[in-house]
Amino acid sequence: MTTMEAPVWRDEDVRGFGMAVGGRARVLRPTNSEQVAAAFAEVRAAGGSIALRGAGCSYGDAATAVGGSVLDLSAMNRIHDFDPATGIAVCEPGVTVRDLWRRSIGYGYWPKVVSGTMAVSMGGAASMNIHGKNNFALGSFGECVEWFDLMLPRGESVRCSRESDPELFHAAISGFGMLGCFTRLAIRTKRVHSGRLRVWGIVAKDLAHNLQILEDLRGKADYLVSWLDLHGKGAGLGRGLMHRADQMQPGEDPEGLRFFEPALQDVPTTLFGVVPKGWLWPGMWCAVHMRQVALVNWLKFRAGYREERQSPYLQTHGAFHFLLDYVPRWHWMTRPGGLIQFQPFVPAAQGERVLRTLIERCQQTGFVPYLGVLKRHRPDPFLMTHAVDGYSLAMDFAVSANQKRRQALWRFCQELADLVLEAGGRFYYAKDAVLLQSSFGRVHGEPAAARFRALKQRCDPDRILQTDLSRRLGV
Ligand SMILES: Cc1cc2nc3c(=O)[nH]c(=O)nc-3n(C[C@H](O)[C@H](O)[C@H](O)COP(=O)(O)OP(=O)(O)OC[C@H]3O[C@@H](n4cnc5c(N)ncnc54)[C@H](O)[C@@H]3O)c2cc1C
Repeated sequence: MTTMEAPVWRDEDVRGFGMAVGGRARVLRPTNSEQVAAAFAEVRAAGGSIALRGAGCSYGDAATAVGGSVLDLSAMNRIHDFDPATGIAVCEPGVTVRDLWRRSIGYGYWPKVVSGTMAVSMGGAASMNIHGKNNFALGSFGECVEWFDLMLPRGESVRCSRESDPELFHAAISGFGMLGCFTRLAIRTKRVHSGRLRVWGIVAKDLAHNLQILEDLRGKADYLVSWLDLHGKGAGLGRGLMHRADQMQPGEDPEGLRFFEPALQDVPTTLFGVVPKGWLWPGMWCAVHMRQVALVNWLKFRAGYREERQSPYLQTHGAFHFLLDYVPRWHWMTRPGGLIQFQPFVPAAQGERVLRTLIERCQQTGFVPYLGVLKRHRPDPFLMTHAVDGYSLAMDFAVSANQKRRQALWRFCQELADLVLEAGGRFYYAKDAVLLQSSFGRVHGEPAAARFRALKQRCDPDRILQTDLSRRLGV
């Protein structure tokens, strides 16, 4: 389609990344901001609503609208400018993390904040205010946004920065697509002095050990993330393998300059150079459906000792950050029910008690996540922030195709959410599928929830922007 042709609505199956929620919707893919404004006008005239969608990497219903309309921004994917003197890129919202680092790495820059997959778009990253494995050190994605253009649902475009409209700036970032559509964003990247990181694998024998490592290293390391074997019980509860990665100092890794070549940063598409990795998910499907997940976790934990002995080692930025992109379509292993992710954020003082209780409750009820990932966070200035001065534990649950079992999982996660909220914790809507309407004020505090509702009224008085998530939360 050329930019002159008007895009057409298509009827499609639009789901969250986890495939467990979503359904049919009519979808439009604009290629410029005039088409975004035209779509808003059309939907407003018809008295309808529309959900914004980037790359569709949110696990739950943040970018779906069952039976409704979806504006998919993935075709607005041009990088208008990259300044090698400052490392600032001016992007359309559909530019992905991969597009960004491919443009910047040759100049010795890497995005400051990246998610576990490079498929995520700039619009989706800003809207959810995503975090990386360095959240404790560099903060969230919003902290590297210099300014953005936001198309409001009545068709007016506003440029926002920390200086020009600080309230809208700090609310649209983190505002899960409720206030307007990002049509252009200026993103600051950071200098790197090698195409590689120095990486350590560190075995953590239990939850307390994991948390202690995070505390000991958070003033020293650039990146920290721990994989947890949530099947470990007793003395092994919360055991896992921590990864620490540090950037190279200037001149420390002359050989690493070779890895400024974008092709050398991409994750390989074949195993041993032969087997297409796209063929691996059926094997993983067998592990999930033949109840071998505990064994796989145990084997992975044991393999951690070997990695620890071989540490430190050098790894490209791409290989370190995008582990989840190594196996394309890995999430298909949870078909037909799909998966949900549940990621509570817990204040540090409550961390060990609450996380231990969550893991124990999973083991008691038999809803044991096949994957757990622990990170350290710090607060950020965005209105709908999910960050706390503390920890998050992302837990991936395979969803049963059996409706009763599925509903029991939802109820169980809501029970866990209560424990987290009672302890002053928060949730992250990119990873949510279960929170109830009553949780919204508890996640953010009533004053912040009220300020957000007031901004929604100011920016979108006709309530054009709606998603399945916003309806579930009553926003
Ligand atoms: C394998 C995997 C690993 C992940 N790892 C991490 C991680 O490490 N850290 C982390 O923080 N997250 C992580 N995520 C979650 C992901 O970063 C977020 O869900 C992110 O928002 C997805 O971006 P997207 O472009 O796919 O947006 P979508 O999922 O399509 O949309 C996300 C939100 O952004 C809104 N939106 C989209 N485009 C616009 C726009 N132009 N203007 C305004 N609003 C818009 C949507 O309405 C929706 O509310 C991971 C996801 C996956 C699948």
